[in-house]
Amino acid sequence: MTSDVAATTTNAGLFARAQEVIPGGVNSPVRAFRAVGGTPYFVQRALGPHVWDAEGRRLLDLVQSYGAIIAGHAHPVIVEAIQAAAAGGTSYGAPTEREVLLAEEIRSRVPACERVRLVSSGTEATMSALRMARGATGRDRIVKFAGNYHGHSDSLLAEAGSAVALIEADPDHPTAVPGSAGVPAGAVADTVVVPYNQVPTLDETVACVIVEPVAANMGLVAPVPGFLAGLRRECDRVGALLIFDEVITGFRLGRGGAQERYGVTPDLSCFGKVIGGGLNVGAFGGRAAVMDQLAPLGPVYQAGTLSGNPLATAAGLAALSLLDAEAYDTLAGGAARLGQGIEAALTAAGIGCRVPVEGALVGLHLGAEVPVDYDGARTTDTALYAALFHALLDRGVALAPGPYEILFPGLAHDDDVVDEVLSVVAEAATAVVAVGAR
Ligand code: PLP
Repeated sequence: MTSDVAATTTNAGLFARAQEVIPGGVNSPVRAFRAVGGTPYFVQRALGPHVWDAEGRRLLDLVQSYGAIIAGHAHPVIVEAIQAAAAGGTSYGAPTEREVLLAEEIRSRVPACERVRLVSSGTEATMSALRMARGATGRDRIVKFAGNYHGHSDSLLAEAGSAVALIEADPDHPTAVPGSAGVPAGAVADTVVVPYNQVPTLDETVACVIVEPVAANMGLVAPVPGFLAGLRRECDRVGALLIFDEVITGFRLGRGGAQERYGVTPDLSCFGKVIGGGLNVGAFGGRAAVMDQLAPLGPVYQAGTLSGNPLATAAGLAALSLLDAEAYDTLAGGAARLGQGIEAALTAAGIGCRVPVEGALVGLHLGAEVPVDYDGARTTDTALYAALFHALLDRGVALAPGPYEILFPGLAHDDDVVDEVLSVVAEAATAVVAVGAR
């Protein structure tokens, strides 16, 4: 360590240094607090439902790495698995048994994944699934839904919700549509964006429809009855593939993810977050007839130096080992209590809100109606979110620093933790109302 490094012990000091060397001071835009203002906290360590910042302050964390953590931070079973794996080497460039075990585990929970390919992020999973669908159908067009985020690959950023919404809304960057500067027109020429929760009419030029079966990047928007089944029917009618992006819903909504919960089977599924136990794993899988067109069996190329990494697969297997039926009941029960409690506390303070809950997922919409699409989601009061975010953070509760993100209560958020969150929410709401931020 240089003396410079040792001297920096404040969040502001670290952020200042970070901005000198990392664009915006962060390695993923939402972390920079641009949507809520202020200085990001730098995490020093974490345990269970808590993180500690660079100043030694303990925060009750509802971010949980945007859903990559489900059993609480530094869960001993996962930490031990990673430590044991690391002692055996960190990457080989040759196959390992744990890759087979993780793929088998995914297939046992999500039977539609007859074949699974491991990658290193959710972005890679969706990007590869698109190529797979295009290669398998020989068609180019893809259909995505406004407000659905599928990672940062070129063809999927248009109207992608999450932090992309902030770039699209920024008057200083009028050329940023579709989603980002630097995306060539050609890369999105075959991307069609349609409203969420409406079944589009397809034609025979469409390779695939990709959807978040429960949308979790425009707040939380559940599929209306018939939407997912309608997509299945419409894809079948024209011979397009249906891709479920279960990077958030997979292994979190329940054992078999959204496809099990809603009884609709996609051709391809994408995963990430939970299946890496906090390390870098993504996966895509589907029917053998489609997946077997991947290299080395078929002509669709996809590869990765660190794919199926031995630490990441160890962490993922350990995380999944904690997720039995009882765990999903606990997760859903905790999320329901949290969601109902937040809605009650905010409403009691006079803040109009809707707090949708779907399994273990909790949204926070600062408006009168539960949204069903991106237009509805964007009616959330973003200034009020920023005020509430800071009022909570000042009192030791961390939400994600963006109005379109959701809350990720996990197994570490037991009844006592939820009670603590709810009493802080009540206090914060009163404080926000008192200063007239609403
Ligand atoms: N798909 C969905 C639904 C996501 O929420 C995300 C990330 O938040 C991704 C894909 C991209 O995953 P990653 O950030 O691991 O690349």
